[in-house]
Amino acid sequence: MYQGSIVDLRGSTGLRILSVLKQANAQSGVQVVENIRILDLLLDDCGRVRGAVGQIGQEQAVIHARAVVLATGGAGRLFRKNVNPPTLEGDGWAMAYRAGAQFVNMEFFQIGPGVVNPRMDFIIHSHMWRLKPRMTNSNGQEFLERYCPAGVSVDDVMDLKAMSYPFSVRTNAKYVDIAIFKEIMEGRGTPNDGVYFDVTHIGEEELLKRCPITYKTIRKPEATWPK
Ligand SMILES: Cc1cc2nc3c(=O)[nH]c(=O)nc-3n(C[C@H](O)[C@H](O)[C@H](O)COP(=O)(O)OP(=O)(O)OC[C@H]3O[C@@H](n4cnc5c(N)ncnc54)[C@H](O)[C@@H]3O)c2cc1C
Repeated sequence: MYQGSIVDLRGSTGLRILSVLKQANAQSGVQVVENIRILDLLLDDCGRVRGAVGQIGQEQAVIHARAVVLATGGAGRLFRKNVNPPTLEGDGWAMAYRAGAQFVNMEFFQIGPGVVNPRMDFIIHSHMWRLKPRMTNSNGQEFLERYCPAGVSVDDVMDLKAMSYPFSVRTNAKYVDIAIFKEIMEGRGTPNDGVYFDVTHIGEEELLKRCPITYKTIRKPEATWPK
């Protein structure tokens, strides 16, 4: 039987992973060039990748290399509504394409509920579904129950949604995504093309205890929200 352990630092797991990796990288003696935007790959006369050209501020930078690994992430930022940082516009994919690469599985994007207003680059994650939010449309109506078939309750669906983020037809968590999508498509979405996610039935003290980082992030002043 598989035995594993879960590493969970209550919302700061990613940051910790990043800092440990950064430290290990620094110790390995790798030369790091920061704040560079890679613009294209360099090819030799035979079409082999031999480096990359980029920009640091107004300066052009040329890097020659025997091997190039493209680790530029996805392209989620191309969607009108997304929770991705601004650099995820598929630069690496475009460079690879221009260099002659073939692509597979282009359709595999994770689609799921996120905070679209205020813009926080936040997915609606497990803690938030466990709060059993009231989800309402622009008419103030709770709508999820209408989409749940007989024998499937709103509570069951939210409990399942707390365990899986992206849309999948494999579990009944799908009714959350289907319900939100249909409400918006049928014209009952909010002015920001979303639905309302209301947890005001839960007191501030309880919210701070159960999801402190989410609560504090959402309460931050508008000037600090990502663009
Ligand atoms: C809101 C959100 C929540 C998520 N939550 C989870 C989670 O809970 N668990 C999980 O496993 N995954 C989660 N993910 C997915 C996870 O973040 C990604 O799968 C993962 O970060 C991909 O790693 P990567 O190294 O391929 O790309 P990234 O981490 O996206 O890194 C790509 C890097 O390349 C840089 N870059 C892009 N273009 C250029 C360019 N032209 N020049 C120079 N640099 C460039 C970018 O700035 C970025 O630093 C989440 C994603 C989002 C957006």
